[in-house]
Amino acid sequence: MKRTAIITGASRGIGRAVAINLANKGFSLVLVYNRSYDKIKELEQELNGKCDFISVCADVSKPSDVQKVFNLAKEKFGFVDTLINNAGISHIGFFDTETQETYDKIMDTNFRSVFTACLLASKDMIANKFGRIVNVSSVWGQKGASMEVLYSASKHAVVGLTRSLNAELAPSGILVNAVCPGVIDTDMNRHFSAEDKRLIEEDIPLGRFGKAEEVASVISMLTEENLYIGGEDISITAGY
Ligand code: NAP
Repeated sequence: MKRTAIITGASRGIGRAVAINLANKGFSLVLVYNRSYDKIKELEQELNGKCDFISVCADVSKPSDVQKVFNLAKEKFGFVDTLINNAGISHIGFFDTETQETYDKIMDTNFRSVFTACLLASKDMIANKFGRIVNVSSVWGQKGASMEVLYSASKHAVVGLTRSLNAELAPSGILVNAVCPGVIDTDMNRHFSAEDKRLIEEDIPLGRFGKAEEVASVISMLTEENLYIGGEDISITAGY
């Protein structure tokens, strides 16, 4: 069976690593990016000749943009059997300084996007009795973090949706899982000073940040046809 995956946040970091991993496995890809036009062009160059793909510019916090992604995916490939909800933004701040605007931004980008894409993907997947959905949550979506209350709440919501949706969709052959990375070496963590980084690494038993490729290999495993894992939130933290 020819597989087709939508990957949100494919332009950089973890999403980019997932795109390369799935391309090597022969997937056709729908690469969703938002602001990083140059980065998606670089990725396109890397994937040229390796797999079929289209790139779609979309702000996944907007349901109409997510609908556009699915329309273009179906037009090009006919059917999407794999959905990787990876796009997300971090946010650090004292809780008593948060605003309704920040709430909307974080929840719409990190959670509404996942809800909308799952909704659009599920209809065809149910009809075809097969699907794989992987939602990228966070270790803070399992444990919660000071000064990251909204981010943590949005990522807990992703885990809650994952568990419940798997219970509903697994009877139709659709497995839904979440991954919960710890601290991964991507642009999201470039703001750390060398000293901050050293202190965090002291708390990671393996002694270093994770690599995007290491998260991608777990996500890739969760897309396999031979899979007996569903409704899980899998930590990728090396024990952090
Ligand atoms: P990153 O390097 O900052 O990349 C973020 C990606 O999300 C980019 O491709 C960006 O696209 C996309 N994105 C952001 N807002 C978007 C929007 N409104 N619409 C469409 N795309 C949007 O981050 P990363 O570390 O790879 O993070 C990927 C996922 O892993 C996120 O959900 C993050 O919360 C989660 N995570 C990361 C870590 C970590 O330590 N890095 C830990 C736990 C969980 P453009 O650049 O094209 O705008």
